[in-house]
Amino acid sequence: MEAKLVVGLEIHVQLATRTKMFCGCKLGFNDPPNSNVCPVCLGMPGVLPVMNKKAYEYAVRTALALNCEVARFTKWDRKGYYYPDLPKNYQISQYDLPMSSNGFMEIELEDGATRKIRILRAHLEEDAGKNQHEGLPHSRVDLNRTGTPLLEIVTEPDMSSPEECRILAMELQKLVQFLGVSEANMQKGHMRFEPNINLHITDDEGQVYKTPICEIKNLNSFRALERAVAYEQWRQREEWKRDHNYTIEKCGKQNRGWDDVKEETVFQREKEEAHEYRYFPEPDLVPVEIEDAWLERIKTELPELPQVMRKRFIEKYGLSEYDANVLTTDRATADYFDAAVKAGGAAKRAANLVTQYGLKTANEKGCGVDQIGVSSGQTARLARLVDEGTVNASAAASIFEMMMTDNRNPEVIAQESNLMQQSDAGALEGIVDEVIAVNGPAVQEVKSGGKKSKKARGFLLGQVMQKSKGQANPRIAGDLLDKKLHG
Ligand code: ZN
Ligand code: MN
Repeated sequence: MEAKLVVGLEIHVQLATRTKMFCGCKLGFNDPPNSNVCPVCLGMPGVLPVMNKKAYEYAVRTALALNCEVARFTKWDRKGYYYPDLPKNYQISQYDLPMSSNGFMEIELEDGATRKIRILRAHLEEDAGKNQHEGLPHSRVDLNRTGTPLLEIVTEPDMSSPEECRILAMELQKLVQFLGVSEANMQKGHMRFEPNINLHITDDEGQVYKTPICEIKNLNSFRALERAVAYEQWRQREEWKRDHNYTIEKCGKQNRGWDDVKEETVFQREKEEAHEYRYFPEPDLVPVEIEDAWLERIKTELPELPQVMRKRFIEKYGLSEYDANVLTTDRATADYFDAAVKAGGAAKRAANLVTQYGLKTANEKGCGVDQIGVSSGQTARLARLVDEGTVNASAAASIFEMMMTDNRNPEVIAQESNLMQQSDAGALEGIVDEVIAVNGPAVQEVKSGGKKSKKARGFLLGQVMQKSKGQANPRIAGDLLDKKLHG
């Protein structure tokens, strides 16, 4: 038998607007419960929602980056359901006329293979509130989140492995961060994933079976997404193997939850069909019509996308795939590095400085690399100094650290702190002679040309470096040493 995994993803992305989707309440995080609410988002009768134009713009920006067609005319619909965190008993969403559709996204797997994942649609909607159950003898409802703008992105069922699902999700996170439309902070619940999973099984007689489509609700980490898909792949196969009756015809669709502790999915309920939500057009909001000029403006303002930037770093700057990946993890880092190279820093050296010292410091401080106090111009100059051999790697580390609190050029700092590399052969010669004079056995070893001569040469060079307090240019010192030992 053969079992092909088929997965489509629904992804909810919280947009980084200042205020909610249909009212002026602010979007806070960790604010006191029910402090960012008003009659509109509380769903009081008689209130009138007003669309947040910024949210719509962010949605269009994302849709364009996802190669979607942007609809010139859309409307809003009420999706009816009852839940304690949704006091008005419906969610404003977009049903039959989403703001965008028919896009795609390309992802690269760990083995270098690429996949094109089609995007069915992306639409705007509002979030519900939050129920709190933990540590309480009863449940509480916090409606601060109610009305938060969400972009729901729905892919076609084009993924066929747990890895593809995770990579698509991560690539999407990077994309919305680059676009500046979402913080996409997983800890803050800015991205939630709902994979729809089933298997297409071909048995030994060539008969094809499809297992029920299971939608796993509300996964909020990449790890949970990957694990949940892998678990379902295993579970559905086992279920089917039992009596070949676990099929979509016999069992229908279902919603399942993810138990993060047991690492398994749990049955929740038979899945609703669209008609059960009783969608109907929202009577309190006017439809949205888009003008060409507005759409054009958003198109021209799109930043360079991470995949394009990554490719440019590899092809134009000669970076390794690994470095290019690290440097395009977020836009602040990518822009910072790009600016350093454009300011004249040697690309490979600048990449090393940013990844080894910049990102390390940024991580320690919990900020972006653009906020550690070293400008991209300083990094560019330092990269050039390293490249020219004016300072060596260990001096570069010290200089980089000093630049965090010193705005001057690295040349000045290096000079002042005696960190310039000694490339003057005349000055180095004295040190080399001295080292040769006091290390007779090692010198003999090198001259003999035997097995240990390489190691002995390394030792002598180390001595030269030490005596020069790390300032000797190792290439020049090595040349001098060789010249003196081999005449
Ligand atoms: Zn409100
Ligand atoms: Mn939704």
